[in-house]
Formats: sequence, C-alpha cells, structure tokens
Amino acid sequence: MKYVNEYRDPELGKKLLEKIKRDSHKHIRLMEFCGGHTVAIFKHGLRQLLPSNIEMLSGPGCPVCVTASTDLDRAIAMGKLPNVIITSFGDMVRVPGSSCSLQKAKAEGADVRIVYSAQDALKIAQENPKKSIIFIGIGFETTAPTIAASILQAEQEKIKNYYVLSLHKVCPPIMKAILDLGEVKLDGIICPGHVSAIIGARPYQFLPDDYHIACAISGFEPVDILLAVDSLVEQIESGQPRVDITYRRGVKEEGNEAALRLMEKVFEIGEADWRGIGIVPESGLKIRPEYEKFDAAKNFKVKIGPGREPKGCICGAVLRGVSTPLECKLFRVTCTPERPIGPCMVSSEGSCATYYEYGGRKTNR
Ligand code: SF4
Repeated sequence: MKYVNEYRDPELGKKLLEKIKRDSHKHIRLMEFCGGHTVAIFKHGLRQLLPSNIEMLSGPGCPVCVTASTDLDRAIAMGKLPNVIITSFGDMVRVPGSSCSLQKAKAEGADVRIVYSAQDALKIAQENPKKSIIFIGIGFETTAPTIAASILQAEQEKIKNYYVLSLHKVCPPIMKAILDLGEVKLDGIICPGHVSAIIGARPYQFLPDDYHIACAISGFEPVDILLAVDSLVEQIESGQPRVDITYRRGVKEEGNEAALRLMEKVFEIGEADWRGIGIVPESGLKIRPEYEKFDAAKNFKVKIGPGREPKGCICGAVLRGVSTPLECKLFRVTCTPERPIGPCMVSSEGSCATYYEYGGRKTNR
C-alpha cells in the first residue's frame, strides 16, 4: 500500500530512533493533542522505545472525551422531548452525563439512534417527516465541514425537521488554554494530522512565536510519529522552534481551502465548554444566525441542572495532561471498556481506553 507501508518500515523506524537517541540531550516534554496519535504511540510501544529523557504526555484530543457533561445532559433532555429522534455517533451514546447516558435514556423510552455520518441523520429526517431529528455534532475541524455540508443540503432540499446540536470544537485555542493554565510545561507539541489537513499549519504559529514551543504536524503511522519527534528534538536542541509539517502527504501549509470555506459558511467561532477545563472563549463552532432554523440549541429549549462528573473519575485531569489514567483509583478496578465510568474509557481514542488496551505503564513520566 503506497504511502502507508513505507511509514511502517521497521528498519526506517530503527534508524530514526537511533538518530533521536543520538541527537536528544535535554530532558524534554512533548504532548500529542490527538487521540489518534495517542493510540498510535501506545499501539507501537513508542513511549518505551524513545529515550528516557523524552517525556510524552497526552492531551485533550478525543472529541467524545472533551464533550462537557452539561452539553451531554442537554442532548439527553432533548431526547426526552416528544417526537424527537436523537442521532449520534456510537461512542457518544455510552458516555455518562450527570445522571444518565443517551443509552440509558434510550432504554427508558427515548428514540436514540446511532449513525455513522450526518448524511445518515438527514436520511432519517427524510424518512420521518413528522419527527424532529437532532444530530449531535461533536468533533474538531475534521468533522465540522461534513456537518456544515449536511446543513446546506437540508437547506437545499427543504428538509425542515433536521437539526444539529453543535458541540464542535476547534483545536488551536485549547492548546493556548492548556498552556495558559500553566499546569503542564511543554517543550514541543505533536500537532494533529487530520485537523491540520483542514486548517493547515498557520494557525499553530503562535506556539513558537508566543510560547517558544516546537511544533510538528504528524501522520499516524509509527514512522510518522518518529519523524515528528525527530523534528521536535532538532527544533528544541537548536533553540529554534517552528511549525514543521512532517506529514506532507496529508497536510498542506494552507490546509483545505474548500473545507474551510464550507465550515465558515455555516459556523462561526464561539465559546465552548470542555470537560475538565471549562468554558474556553473562541474554542467552539456555533451555527450562524442565517442557519438557525437548523440549530437544535435555538429550537429546543430544555432545562438542565449543574453538570456533575462521575464520582472518583479524573478524566478532567487526564485531558489536561496533568494525570495519567494509572493515577485513577478506578482504572481497571471498576472502570473498564465494558463498564466505563468516564468518557476517556468509553471512546476508543480516549486515554484510559488506550492505556487499558495497550497496557500503559508508569514509564516515561
Ligand atoms: Fe475516568 Fe475511568 Fe479514566 Fe478513571 S479510568 S479517569 S474513572 S474514565
């Protein structure tokens, strides 16, 4: 498979590891912000293979995990309204809100359906003209353009019973928020590959300019990750941070202009509530007033109480990179992928599920 097999080449991986070991002298701390990168790093045992002076942390890059419990509570409350069908990606349905999950609401009678895309939700809307179909829009800049396209399609085809609860988030502001919290000190960031395919490299420029942090946009194969780490080591050792694209086959400097235009047509920047972090200004995507007839938040008013996190769950600290799942007393004891207590164990890209699956150990911390 061209563009994949060469990035899984063990010989190339070995050579890169040797180079990283040779060139890396300082104790450095790197964070990957993308849940897909966390999975790749653990799956290929890269934390153990990297020299011990390179510390790797995981950040808030799993869209299911970062959805605030109050947003989930709102979705659940909407699902309990008469004649409403909630449509959602699968993982989201199992995430516990303050008092129940969408799965539990379904067991109690709400009409909750798992879909694989916003297009599936649109189809349900066409097939059920007497019902209101609410699609729970989660994800970063990667998924937002397709949700925008679904809204434009609904407009064009005059589908009047399709709504989106936009819980979309954007990546660069949360990087800034994590740094400004000052809880973790970072030397370099492995920037997300899929998000960067949409937004390009420029939105990260504040990281080297304002925070003196090295950046490398990485792909998802083991050699991709090692290329990114190699670039970060070189930038940090030379004291000259920049934004490097080491995933050239997937990311262009300017991003995907057509997808960006689509996203900007339907969404505008607004604040967003992040699990474990709280409200972060300009870190979310809201539906523009021109399309508010498709906005579930504007068309379905529900009352919800203050959000609550599952007792004993430290997902918030895990998402901020302050703690690892191994520091949670419930990890593997009462919280497992079969019986998840917090979102980071529900999502296949969540840190807790990744540690569980690939046996994360207390090395490299
Ligand atoms: Fe939350 Fe479970 Fe992870 Fe603990 S192990 S932080 S309870 S998801």
